[in-house]
Amino acid sequence: MGNRPSSGGRGLAIYPGSFDPLTRGHLDIIQRTSRIFDAVIVAVAHNPAKKHTFSVSERLRMAEDAIRRIPNAQADTYSGLLVDYIKARKGKVLIRGLRVVSDMDYEFQLAAMNRRLWSAVETVFLMPDEKYAYLSSSMVKEVARLGASVDEFVTPFVARELARKFAA
Ligand code: ADP
Repeated sequence: MGNRPSSGGRGLAIYPGSFDPLTRGHLDIIQRTSRIFDAVIVAVAHNPAKKHTFSVSERLRMAEDAIRRIPNAQADTYSGLLVDYIKARKGKVLIRGLRVVSDMDYEFQLAAMNRRLWSAVETVFLMPDEKYAYLSSSMVKEVARLGASVDEFVTPFVARELARKFAA
């Protein structure tokens, strides 16, 4: 008998974020998560108090398009407390991406708060390929707004959505 090699069966992981818009850095994290866990839910935050460039339905559409070739990934939206959403989906693992050391301060605060709100939740940090280490949604929007190509940073669908949004 003994231990059988793991088939990556580690249950459900939830990857929450604004995804305003989803970038290739986010997609890199989703792919890594899908290889470790049985299933991953990309949870697009609907927070009316935050000002987003794209509506929650636009952000969801972009996420759905990006993950269409990852069979164990799905996209959803959530509002309210993240830990309540994770409980409702019967998950326990929360994924966040860490690009550079400066992300840590905020991400650790968030992880500590979520653990305080629900002690069973585990935050797992994943590092993207280094080519995405300096990529952020806000940087991509700035580049798109100024009319440069963002093909290197986002999926073709997101590039079209950005062009539409920033068309004069
Ligand atoms: P939030 O508003 O929740 O921070 P974001 O969409 O900005 O939403 O980010 C969601 C998560 O993805 C965060 O953990 C963030 O650090 C991570 N992330 C953002 N950009 C990248 C990237 N280029 N590579 C890896 N992780 C990233």
